[in-house]
Amino acid sequence: MNEYKKLIGDLHSHTIVSGHAYGTIRENARAAADIGLEILGITEHGPGIPGTCDPFYFCNLKAIPRELYGVKIMIGCEINVLNEGKLSLDQRWIDRLDYGIAGIHLLCYKDCGKEGNTENLISCMKNEKIKIVSHPDDDHTPLDYEKLAIAAKEYGVALEVNNSSLLKPDHRINCFENYKTMLEWCEKTGAMIVIDSDAHDPSAVGRTDKAFELVKQYNFPEEQILNNDLHKILRFMGKE
Ligand SMILES: [Zn+2]
Ligand SMILES: [Zn+2]
Repeated sequence: MNEYKKLIGDLHSHTIVSGHAYGTIRENARAAADIGLEILGITEHGPGIPGTCDPFYFCNLKAIPRELYGVKIMIGCEINVLNEGKLSLDQRWIDRLDYGIAGIHLLCYKDCGKEGNTENLISCMKNEKIKIVSHPDDDHTPLDYEKLAIAAKEYGVALEVNNSSLLKPDHRINCFENYKTMLEWCEKTGAMIVIDSDAHDPSAVGRTDKAFELVKQYNFPEEQILNNDLHKILRFMGKE
């Protein structure tokens, strides 16, 4: 097996602002520093998830220090993909984010078959702020991984391997198998992947072992992993 470079960023984490997560920005950043990360993404849920913040939260993001405890901080939002192929956050708020994550959540999405789900997701990936698709792994809302990977490559979006999904595989139908198919198509198309914790508590920040193990077992090309180099991340995000 390849010797892989260590992951230096976790680009998907939540705080109390998401309504069902339990740390603060500073606690997440502290945890990231303790585990040796160079960059942390704070990505609260967008409208559609019960108890998450009002969109007005996103009006004042410049107040947040972009470095805490020596860790670079980026502020995003995990925005829901809606059934019309639209994002659940208005563009005027999206404009204020460092980056956006697009994700399907059953709390505000109704399965419309492999073809329809893939179309809806790809239509959201066309938004220039969207840089990541979260947990595209669940057969409650099946996806066409060939089309998804082609679109990811075309629109400069990374497909996520989500550690939290792999820790609760009973919630996400077929997620191990789906990730293998996804990795296969990412390798063929040259699409990037990102390995994230999706932490809902500081104790989970930077915990990506299960997802990383799956990627290593697959022998996935290291240069197509986004979060093993700070400059690679910043360039991909259009920040450098
Ligand atoms: Zn999610
Ligand atoms: Zn999340």
